[in-house]
Amino acid sequence: MTDQSPVVSGSSTSPDGQPVRRPATVAVHAGRPERTPDAPFNTPVTLASVYVAGGDTEYGRYGNPTWTAFEEALGALEGGRCLSFASGLAAVACVLDLVGQGAKVVMPRHSYQGSIMQLADLEARGRLTGVLVDIEDTAAVIAACEDAALVWLESPTNPALEVADIPAITRAAHAAGAYVVVDNTFATPLLQQPLADDVDLVLHSATKYISGHSDVLMGALITRDEQLFDVLKKRRDLTGAVPGPMEAWLALRGLRTLHLRVERAQDNARELVRRLGEHPAIATVRYPGFGAVVGVEFTQGALAADLLVHKTKIWVHATSLGGVESTFERRRRWKTESQTIPEDLVRMSVGVEHVDDLWDDLRIALDTLVG
Ligand SMILES: *Cc1c(COP(=O)(O)O)cnc(C)c1O
Repeated sequence: MTDQSPVVSGSSTSPDGQPVRRPATVAVHAGRPERTPDAPFNTPVTLASVYVAGGDTEYGRYGNPTWTAFEEALGALEGGRCLSFASGLAAVACVLDLVGQGAKVVMPRHSYQGSIMQLADLEARGRLTGVLVDIEDTAAVIAACEDAALVWLESPTNPALEVADIPAITRAAHAAGAYVVVDNTFATPLLQQPLADDVDLVLHSATKYISGHSDVLMGALITRDEQLFDVLKKRRDLTGAVPGPMEAWLALRGLRTLHLRVERAQDNARELVRRLGEHPAIATVRYPGFGAVVGVEFTQGALAADLLVHKTKIWVHATSLGGVESTFERRRRWKTESQTIPEDLVRMSVGVEHVDDLWDDLRIALDTLVG
């Protein structure tokens, strides 16, 4: 993980002397059609449920050229082979399906609510045993890895923004014979590449930063393990949790500017963290040092949080995150949110607008809270 630049740096030549492409270039060029005369730059949206018999695909549940283009691009950024899914939670379900009856799954207590709810549902039906952990307590997480079949990491967590020691936990999990998956939705492959830390699987809600324009639901899994890839592909074939071709096309279109969006949003977030920290209405600012999701708590509590989200003109009161637009919400407005998340915590997804406009909008609303 790099915490300074959104573009992973490092050596510019590979061991065989070929220039290595940096992520910004990969984001723009991966997953393009072959460069033959008059070939289109972009893979078209292939609307097909059936293909002529005798090939590898045959039916629309098993493959689609528009998915493939998206999968090549995201796979290249994460450094593995990618499978796309209908949504982030469809990918979550596919991973939880990997482990056997009664197996133990370790998960951060502040994971994405949908992931925790799936685990709780499977546990309630006797399918799995879930253990929720404080992901920043590395010793406790490592202790919980014993006898586990799957160790789920989400880092930074949503919405507490805690950060896991991914390499240390991965070593312990592998020693226990468990798979490790990292939900990399918040960091994106530009800020964190878990496969380089020997993690087995990376998960994305491509709904968020990858597509980036609040117009698509999609998910993805990426792995370097060919056997695991085949198992996951078979699960996707069986369950039919596949994306629409139009969604894949839009997600790929969004991915082309991922580096620009993440860089601007992160710059904005860092500046807003500084300014928010000096405002008397704000008691606490949570920020892991990278990315564009920020948490704030208020000197006047949950009522102030509720007032703020209704008083701004640029910031939109909405759930979700990772779009070009700045959005925020008080997370505990959801009955399902963890009780260990403070009542007044507002999660802010910083967008790519001008930072001074974002601040003016916030400051005017915040000033009225302490007026
Ligand atoms: C949104 C989200 C998900 C679920 O993805 P959907 O595309 O909404 O199904 C999973 N993990 C994280 C961290 C998320 O933010």
